[in-house]
Amino acid sequence: MPQESIEHRIDRLQAGGVIDMHFDLPMDLYEKRERKNVLETEFLPEIKGGNIGVVGVAIYIEDRYLPDAGLRVALDQIARLYAETQACAQFTICKTYHDIQKAREMGKIALLITMEGVEPLGTDLNLFHIFYELGVRSIGLTHARSNAAGHGGIFASTGSSPDGLTGFGRDLVRECEALGVIVDLAHINPAGFKEILSITIKPPIVSHTNVRQYYDIERNINDDQIKMIGERRGMIGVNSVLVSPKAEKSILDHYVDHIEYIANLIGIDGVGIGFDFFEFIYSQWPESAKKQLDEKLAMPHFIPNLRNHSHTRNLTRKMIERGFSDEEIEKTLRGNWLRIFEEWLEPRTGG
Ligand SMILES: [Zn+2]
Repeated sequence: MPQESIEHRIDRLQAGGVIDMHFDLPMDLYEKRERKNVLETEFLPEIKGGNIGVVGVAIYIEDRYLPDAGLRVALDQIARLYAETQACAQFTICKTYHDIQKAREMGKIALLITMEGVEPLGTDLNLFHIFYELGVRSIGLTHARSNAAGHGGIFASTGSSPDGLTGFGRDLVRECEALGVIVDLAHINPAGFKEILSITIKPPIVSHTNVRQYYDIERNINDDQIKMIGERRGMIGVNSVLVSPKAEKSILDHYVDHIEYIANLIGIDGVGIGFDFFEFIYSQWPESAKKQLDEKLAMPHFIPNLRNHSHTRNLTRKMIERGFSDEEIEKTLRGNWLRIFEEWLEPRTGG
């Protein structure tokens, strides 16, 4: 048998679809709500180019809309998702594990609606049920801010709130587990992280994060936290914009270092993708907003050849070069997240 070319091997490994569990699509669709077919014209080419099969699309509310317009903007972001997917038959919003499987069989791109920060809920569990009906299937309690559910981990090596969740935060986490909404520990402060694990039993996820070994801020996760996720058969998605505090170290090889680091601690079954591609939003901001982000959180460093979904082949190629086996690459790109979906989401909706 002639040896398979590397390009063919990449084709084969990506053919089943790549899963990215964190993408800020809804806020961009909302900001461009006066326009039509944004999903098809601005996102489909890159998503298709990278063989992306499932995307976790995050409802996120910027500070300027809070508190008063949070609920309104969240609903509008979901409305944009539905309108845009109706206009582009290649996408479909999935609510169950069966929906995801069916979408993949039909060659469609599955969108799983997630929520990053529960500000839109206020302290109302009934509203959470409404968002569930609308399709929200994963929830991270906070972004970097504090809210009615808990506190975000800050972008510094110490100094996050020492407090865990609020009563509402605990009720919400329990309700997520009961209903089949994946609990996402991305962004939560260390105390909240521990507390969520103490009141849940299903495999936890951290949809988009990096290891503190390489970028030591409390927004990322340390070895103990990685091991806690591993012990519970959970999953960690590796983020592409906080690979290193240094621009010159924010390179594809270092992204793979994060994958390898997690796999060495808890096994390859615990690691996947949560790209958090953000440059398309960042580049639209005025200089003042960029400066504010840098001062409040951190300056994002985009990896030159991993800046959008079309670059996913570069990652697969790099993992091959670094000696990962086919099985390890397929688990990282897809298989591990599928296991989480199977364990958390309803197999199918009734009716
Ligand atoms: Zn985030």
